[in-house]
Amino acid sequence: MTYTVSPVGFVRSCFKEKFAIPRQPQLAPAARGVLELVAPFDQGDAVQGLEQVSHVWLLFVFHQALEDKPRLKVRPPRLGGNKSMGVFATRATHRPNGIGQSVVKLDKVEAGRLHISGIDLLDGTPILDIKPYVPYADIISSASNSMASAAPVLIPVQWADSALHEAHAHGLRLQEPLVALIEQCLAQDPRPAYQTPTAEREYGAQFWDLDVRWHYPEPGVIRVLEVVLASQG
Ligand code: SAM
Repeated sequence: MTYTVSPVGFVRSCFKEKFAIPRQPQLAPAARGVLELVAPFDQGDAVQGLEQVSHVWLLFVFHQALEDKPRLKVRPPRLGGNKSMGVFATRATHRPNGIGQSVVKLDKVEAGRLHISGIDLLDGTPILDIKPYVPYADIISSASNSMASAAPVLIPVQWADSALHEAHAHGLRLQEPLVALIEQCLAQDPRPAYQTPTAEREYGAQFWDLDVRWHYPEPGVIRVLEVVLASQG
C-alpha cells in the first residue's frame, strides 16, 4: 500500500549544504531559518494559536538523502561510522520513507511564515507537518538511550583575527548571530570521525551566503581561517 504526502512548506535555512549541520536540533541555538508555508496553509487561519507555543515538532523529508532501496542497517557518524546498527535504532538520514523529525524553537509566527531556530535542517527541506510541542507528554524524565546518552563533546573554536572581523561584519549585514552560529556548529567537530586531520588540511562549509574555512592547528582544536562571500552559481 502506498500513501501520497505533499509538503505544507519549505525551510529557508542558514545551512546550504549537509556538512557541518548539527546532528540534532537544539545543538546550535543560533541556527535560524524561516518555514515558508505553501497554499492553502499560507493563510493566517492555519497557524492561529501557534503563537502560544514555544517549540514545534517538524516532520520533514530528507530530500537530499532519498534512496530507492531501503537499508536495514546503517553506520551512524556518531558511532564513528564503522559500526552498523539497525536503521530503526538510529536517526540516520537514509531510512525508509526518508522522514525526519526535529523539535525546533518557534521565534515568531506570521501568516504563511514561521521563524524557527535551533534547526538541523538543510535549505529547501520539505516539511510534511507541524505539531506543537506538548511538554507534559513529550518530556520523559526517565527516558534513556545508552547509544546516545549525551550531546556531543564540544571542542574549542579559535579565530584568526581577520576571520572574526569578517564574521562580525557579515553578521551585521545579515542581521544574524553569525559568530555564534559558526562557533556552535564547529564546536561539535563536523569532521568525519575516521579522519585524522593534519594542521595543513583545510575544511569548509557554507553558512547563509558565506564560505567558512577552518583547520585543526592541533588535535581537538578548530581555528576559523576565513569567512568570505560564497561564489554565486
Ligand atoms: N533531527 C532529525 C531526525 O532525528 O530525524 C535529523 C537527524 S539527522 C542525523 C541530521 C542530519 O541530517 C544533519 O546533520 C544534516 O546533515 C542532515 N540533513 C538535514 N536536512 C536534510 C535534508 N533535507 N536532506 C538530507 N539530509 C539532511
